Amino acid sequence: MLKFGAASGRQHNSDGSHTSQTPMRFGDPASYDEQRQEMVELQLRRRGVHDARVLEAMLQVPRHEFIPEEFRAQAYEDHPLPIAKEQTISQPLIIAISLQAIALTGSESVLEVGTGSGYQTALLASLTRQVYSAERHPELAETAERTLRNLGFSNVQVSIRDGSQGWKEHSPYDAILVSAAAPSVPRSLVEQLADEGRMVIPVGPPHTQHLLLVRRNGLTTTTETVDGCRFVPLVGAEGY
Ligand code: SAH
Repeated sequence: MLKFGAASGRQHNSDGSHTSQTPMRFGDPASYDEQRQEMVELQLRRRGVHDARVLEAMLQVPRHEFIPEEFRAQAYEDHPLPIAKEQTISQPLIIAISLQAIALTGSESVLEVGTGSGYQTALLASLTRQVYSAERHPELAETAERTLRNLGFSNVQVSIRDGSQGWKEHSPYDAILVSAAAPSVPRSLVEQLADEGRMVIPVGPPHTQHLLLVRRNGLTTTTETVDGCRFVPLVGAEGY
């Protein structure tokens, strides 16, 4: 299991006893742990997220580490938050629903389109073998990469590129997760999906998007709708 470097609220003394530090304040790591447990219980489990691996990953990954300082106190609230370049880190529930839909078992090679803060990237890295993540804004890609490295994730590669055309070099992917809304399912992404592979992607104009689960079966695909949602646009050659 990965280490997240959360500081303990207790200090080990040389005689083996423990000393409690100053009382917990809002913003302390322990307080974030509690908020994260509450997020998983109230926002996810009670609303029907049932995949045990997804719930566990969301309990472990410190969402606040991916959020700009000025919004960090809201890290575990039930809504999206601003990150740099006028982008957003998605609401925890939408991320959980997407991860649950893609049903990772731990052995997959996954492409993520839209690294953003890197939070969902960290969850994917906890849930599977290898993650390739594409982000078009260099500043976001660099910040996300640094955060992921500092937290000890070593099975992730972040690349600055137009992910609407995928990342051919490492294809085919067992799963693809797109976290920006596309006008339609990009052909390149379907082509880079392995046989029996699945992709979760929000499709549609700004106010009426559907989260689609696309499965590839040889040369054909089947598509089902997962849930209504709203994402920032996928900008690029096969985006808007
Ligand atoms: N899952 C991310 C959500 C980020 S918002 C998180 O948890 O933080 C979606 C991201 O998609 C933005 O960072 C945006 O810059 C990026 N994006 C939009 N179009 C893209 C494209 N064609 N290629 C790569 N990234 C893209």
